[in-house]
Amino acid sequence: MIKIQLADRVKNLPPYLFAAIDKMKQEAIAKGIDLIDLSIGDPDIPTPLHIVKAMQEAVSKPEHHRYPSYEGMLSFREAVSSWYKRRFDVDLDPKTEVLSLIGSKEGIGHIPLAFINPGDVVLVPSPGYPVYSNATLFAGGQSYSMPLTEENSFLPDFSKISDKILKEVKLMFINYPNNPTSATADEDFYKRVIELALSYNIIVCHDAAYSEIYFDNERPLSFLQINGSKEVGIEFHSLSKTYNMTGWRIGFAVGNRDIIGGLGKIKTNIDSGVFQAIQEAAIVALNTDDSILLDIRNTYQKRRDTLYEGLKKIGLSLNKPKASFYLWVKVPENFNSLGFVSYLLEKAGVLTTPGVGFGQAGEGYIRFALTQSVDRIDEAVYRISKIL
Ligand SMILES: *Cc1c(COP(=O)(O)O)cnc(C)c1O
Repeated sequence: MIKIQLADRVKNLPPYLFAAIDKMKQEAIAKGIDLIDLSIGDPDIPTPLHIVKAMQEAVSKPEHHRYPSYEGMLSFREAVSSWYKRRFDVDLDPKTEVLSLIGSKEGIGHIPLAFINPGDVVLVPSPGYPVYSNATLFAGGQSYSMPLTEENSFLPDFSKISDKILKEVKLMFINYPNNPTSATADEDFYKRVIELALSYNIIVCHDAAYSEIYFDNERPLSFLQINGSKEVGIEFHSLSKTYNMTGWRIGFAVGNRDIIGGLGKIKTNIDSGVFQAIQEAAIVALNTDDSILLDIRNTYQKRRDTLYEGLKKIGLSLNKPKASFYLWVKVPENFNSLGFVSYLLEKAGVLTTPGVGFGQAGEGYIRFALTQSVDRIDEAVYRISKIL
């Protein structure tokens, strides 16, 4: 037997908190508890049928059985470009400013490899999607956390980052509508981002995975709608949350052609693109008329209202989300986030996600996902009301 040693970059990964949660979950299920799982950021609603049908048709075509092009079929990139024009009134050249991804996570995970040298600093939000900092680590970079606090509407406060640090920053990740805080960003914020990026030569990567999950008809902005954005950055999009397609693995990056080109270069050397039948189905998805998306949003909005009103009534402290399918809830005094998650699981059979799993600045909060029916959410609120 040889000695199997993990590389330092793997050994240095932060402890995976969600594995501990999963263990608690399995134990609860084994005990026969009727678990209400509000921890998962994965839609419970199936992919719309016309998208599934498009895939069924495409999968039988031999031309799709061969290697796809790494940057995506031109027809897919054209569909992205017209969707962007319709949705955001932003012009994108499908040939140079659009890149297909095997889910946006894939692009986020790979982009530091294209631009980060050992020791370069990457700004990451905390709490935040863990891939930003872990991908930075894999590329040999150093993450610098930007705390998202309630006082600052869960936006990073750039004035708190020293000039010395900013001079070492090569790239930054931002994410609105935000996971896990559900905060949204306005034009002023994006203008500040662009100003900062231009002054310190920072590549901006905006993760817009939740741009289409919004409430009360308040449509989130695209970073690319702001003047100057294309000089400094790109935006990641995903079909996963928009069309309930998390299992399909397709997303895209759009924006600055040199940044898109750099990411494409990494991808040619690592993967061979997205199965073309999936791209065909994605084209159909992107051309879907708004009524289907309206239904999806209405479903989440009803769940949001039920959970928000319910938790508020119990006396928990939280903001009403304008977008995303998460509620970011303060834990009561005398609890920390992991403690409150296990309390809710043990006493109420309700599973949530501890805020600290998204970074140190997430301590003091837990995240509820709206990925269960209104009835189950009602039941969860009822059970929690009995133990608090
Ligand atoms: C779900 C999620 C993604 C990844 O989505 P895929 O396209 O399925 O890889 C990216 N960013 C955030 C913040 C997410 O929550």
